[in-house]
Amino acid sequence: MNKKTVRDIDVRGKRVLVRVDFNVPLADGKVTDDTRIRAALPTIQYLIDQGAKVILMSHLGRPKGQVKPELSLKPVAEHLSQLLGKPVKMAPDCVGPEVEAMAAELQPGDVLLLENTRFHPEERKNDPAFAQQLAKLGDIYVNDAFGSAHRAHASTEGVAHYLPAVAGFLMEKELNFLGKALEAPERPFIAILGGAKISDKIGVIQNLLGKVDALLIGGGMANTFLQAQGYDMAESLVEEDSLDTAKQLLQEGEGKIVLPVDLVVADAFDANANRKVVPVDEVPAGWRALDIGPATIAHFTNRLSGAKTVVWNGPMGVFEFPAFAEGTFAIARALAELEDAVTIIGGGDSVAAVKQSGVADKITHISTGGGASLEFLEGKTLPGVAVLQDK
Ligand code: ADP
Ligand code: MG
Repeated sequence: MNKKTVRDIDVRGKRVLVRVDFNVPLADGKVTDDTRIRAALPTIQYLIDQGAKVILMSHLGRPKGQVKPELSLKPVAEHLSQLLGKPVKMAPDCVGPEVEAMAAELQPGDVLLLENTRFHPEERKNDPAFAQQLAKLGDIYVNDAFGSAHRAHASTEGVAHYLPAVAGFLMEKELNFLGKALEAPERPFIAILGGAKISDKIGVIQNLLGKVDALLIGGGMANTFLQAQGYDMAESLVEEDSLDTAKQLLQEGEGKIVLPVDLVVADAFDANANRKVVPVDEVPAGWRALDIGPATIAHFTNRLSGAKTVVWNGPMGVFEFPAFAEGTFAIARALAELEDAVTIIGGGDSVAAVKQSGVADKITHISTGGGASLEFLEGKTLPGVAVLQDK
């Protein structure tokens, strides 16, 4: 990565304003999944150890520019305080005189969490005056919120114009894994794409096709490709508007794109629907494909053997229904069993699926960024990264 990190800048005694991704699920005023908070700990702990005055900021949910008490970051301050084993002060807002006073009073090693940046409409508008107000709180800006780096908001991009700006360790790790896969992968390099729609991921398919040795396609996305090849997908989710694009991609990806050979079909879109396994040319009228079949699992697993780099986005089926989760879980296990391979998984639903599969700890890198990882795989420059200082 060619961006400076917290290691490249003197933070001792400085007020360091850190954009983290604390957009975590809450229930009854408690954090129910603290993965994102834990992911930010290395940067926070490093800054504490270096004697910085740590000021954290994040968005939470979609308050639409208004103060919504149920979207306060207060429960996160409590949770973080437990994880760090030290008090975390909670600010009543993210800008303004009272918050500035709190920031000014911090001692080296203290931690202050600002209130939800999206309580202000100026955050999402990337309003320069608001970004300057945020910048007033710190001497240095650190972006460790990879999951928000694809958005040019005041706390992810705007503020970096007014302070020396560097990456945190989570940001560095994400950019290193995803960047290496795209720029200098150990080969064979195989990508697996799935999920509901190809229209969401045409840019990703195009960019990856130029880089991978093989592209395995499953999930709802595969239906459109199969239909484009002339198969009748019956009631399956097919994007008619994307059939021409699918045909074009099949041509571009000739010899690289690998599609399912069999499918698990259902007589309704329902967890308890009747199911059966059919070859791709025998989807019965009135039925729909909700998972890849066992022959496809074997075929994909076979293609994966010997891979040295694997990037996966998008479930192989409707894994939310246990009867249609096997394809996704089997591919997760296949990745987990690869030896000497760098395996990378990105995407909100994909990450949830891999956690459910029970093999998450055998994956090299599970990205904390859903949309951000997809935009990165598309080859786009993320605004929250572009604005950081080069090495
Ligand atoms: P990610 O969040 O990992 O990027 P997506 O949001 O693109 O993944 O896709 C995930 C969704 O795709 C899941 O909700 C899953 O149910 C759906 N899906 C996967 N396969 C199918 C299918 N065959 N038919 C309909 N929906 C599917
Ligand atoms: Mg999703």
